[in-house]
Amino acid sequence: MAKQFKPETLCVQAGWEPKKGEPRVLPIYQSTTFKYETSEQMARLFDLEESGYFYTRLQNPTNDAVAKKITALEGGVGGMLTSSGQAANFYAIFNICQAGDHFVCSSAIYGGTFNLFAVTMKKLGINVTFISPKATEEEISSAFQPNTKALFGETISNPSLDVLDIEKFARIAHKHGVPLIVDNTFPTPINCRPFEWGADIIVHSTTKYMDGHATSVGGCIVDSGNFDWEANADKFPGLCTPDESYHGLTYTKAFGKMAYITKATSQLMRDLGSIQSPQNAFLLNIGLETLHLRMPQHCKNAQKVAEYLQANDKVAWVNYCGLPDNNNYELAQKYMPNGSCGVISFGLKGERNLATKFMDSLQLAAIVTHVADARTSVLHPASHTHRQLSDEQLLEAGVRPDLIRLSVGIENADDIIDDIEQALSK
Ligand SMILES: *Cc1c(COP(=O)(O)O)cnc(C)c1O
Repeated sequence: MAKQFKPETLCVQAGWEPKKGEPRVLPIYQSTTFKYETSEQMARLFDLEESGYFYTRLQNPTNDAVAKKITALEGGVGGMLTSSGQAANFYAIFNICQAGDHFVCSSAIYGGTFNLFAVTMKKLGINVTFISPKATEEEISSAFQPNTKALFGETISNPSLDVLDIEKFARIAHKHGVPLIVDNTFPTPINCRPFEWGADIIVHSTTKYMDGHATSVGGCIVDSGNFDWEANADKFPGLCTPDESYHGLTYTKAFGKMAYITKATSQLMRDLGSIQSPQNAFLLNIGLETLHLRMPQHCKNAQKVAEYLQANDKVAWVNYCGLPDNNNYELAQKYMPNGSCGVISFGLKGERNLATKFMDSLQLAAIVTHVADARTSVLHPASHTHRQLSDEQLLEAGVRPDLIRLSVGIENADDIIDDIEQALSK
């Protein structure tokens, strides 16, 4: 689809462009395999000499249409759906890091990503150094080593809600000859487009606002095509030297700007196989068709709820980057002038167990692990998602022990506030 379309149009129309007599609505290609007429035709696909479908573990037309839509929204050159956000983050790093390599990561990230990077990837011989997203350029630079291959951060961190200074992070990454990978799950491309600020690779948990209805776990990787792998060829042998598993093909030479995303699909997805099911991709696409309508409503409601909480004397503190006295307000205004996301965190005055008491008294807002869908929901990370982290790690990830994460939905804001009010009064 032509680039000049605006995000609203891309949400509705991009990705699936039916030709004469084809279904208007993106079909679910519920097929593991695809038919060819000659053995030669199929052989060319296996040599990556031609692109085409042969087995859904590598590529599927439904998935590709949805990846194309997200790629268009982010302004990238290529994208790939994964079975979850975790898989997207793993692939995004593993595509350019191998045993003995290292990457630098903001400490303000999702708890699941923290475990993946700090514990599981370490077992594969890939080491990470966490740095505060608010550290100076010099401090962040000093975390880089000769074997560092990437810098990673979340646009708005889950659940600490820090805003990443994308330009600063991109400058540091590029000074060290490595790409900046940004998890853009919370703002979505409706509210922030990290490629415009210098990010090179974007990852998403599509499970959140993109799906928007809490139906399907999924992820996505989008490649900007902007990072010059060849200029740093010594760091990225996987992209810049022959791949023996494809008869000595070199990704940068064969695919140019599409090198990174092609390797992720044809090598990692082939070997590790965390493909999103076409059924889930179909549901994700329906979610994406209204993303541009839902995000402003999430932001409008969250702003109202945050202002209500801030004015309430039972509330000890409120963290929402839309509040002018918030320490992320200026960064949020710069990178997300039209709104950030619907997620707020806050703490109550008094005992730590008031958090769970308050949550148990809510009627409209549901206690769920999930975040960022149409329904208002609530979670206490220290007792739920971040249980595995020590108090020290919690604070390092920007999660106070009393932190309540409120994911403001797209219901009527006054009903959400009334629910909070009655729960607080108990
Ligand atoms: C939820 C989340 C993930 C993990 O995604 P899943 O789809 O649950 O695997 C990664 N990053 C962020 C910012 C998230 O909110």
